[in-house]
Amino acid sequence: MKKVTIVGIGPGGYEDMTVRAINAIKDAEVVTGYRLYLGLVKDLIGGKETFCTEMRGEVERCQKAAEYALSGRNVVLISSGDAGIYGMAGLMLKVLEDHPEVETEVIPGVSACQSGGAVLGAPLVHDFAVISLSDLLTPWELIEKRLAAAAGADFVIVLYNPGSHKRADYLSKACDILLQYKSPDTICGIVKNISRDGEEHHFMTLRELRDTKVDMLTTVFIGNSHTGIINGKMVTPRGYRI
Ligand code: SAH
Repeated sequence: MKKVTIVGIGPGGYEDMTVRAINAIKDAEVVTGYRLYLGLVKDLIGGKETFCTEMRGEVERCQKAAEYALSGRNVVLISSGDAGIYGMAGLMLKVLEDHPEVETEVIPGVSACQSGGAVLGAPLVHDFAVISLSDLLTPWELIEKRLAAAAGADFVIVLYNPGSHKRADYLSKACDILLQYKSPDTICGIVKNISRDGEEHHFMTLRELRDTKVDMLTTVFIGNSHTGIINGKMVTPRGYRI
């Protein structure tokens, strides 16, 4: 069977995976993905053939998955969260552009904005914008433009890839732009290692977020002008009268 199934495995924990994702991995002949993510689902993979690469090996991973499929195998490509949200789905479909004979299927997963939002409470009940601070594939000037536009329109904002060793000051730079439009007292929350060992979350103001250090395993939530804290949870109201 010439097939590539692109599977979003959710934030990390088995219980946060969909039944469809679990079944696709069980049915696969070959499982490919980033080494860390294959480790998260190793019990499902069992003795199957695997191919994994490190962090920057995305193109190689997709090309290898295509090769396996073209040789007649049923291949699963694993992505964290949802494969269509800063994940591998777009690249995989592009790599297979000239091979319409290979069947493809994209299986959705729980993205970090959903799983992290649930840890914090209900921050995304109204319109929100999702922005990645990684400038590996997107010019920083465009990221700045999007931050300003989202802040100017009072969206709740979720930041993916908020920082790393090399990009230690990106979150501060992003907050400086947001502070041109948003109150320094805006309610924010950060969640690290969602659904994985060492999960932790913290609430703070936008002013405090500016001076907070975060890493690549953290997702950042910045409220809109109505977001508040209710009994220890971050909540954005939708406007119901009670
Ligand atoms: N496809 C993924 C996102 C990949 S981009 C998804 O839909 O969730 C990688 C970024 O996602 C990380 O830098 C972090 O901001 C966020 N992220 C993914 N998994 C996470 C987790 N378990 N805990 C916290 N943040 C996570």
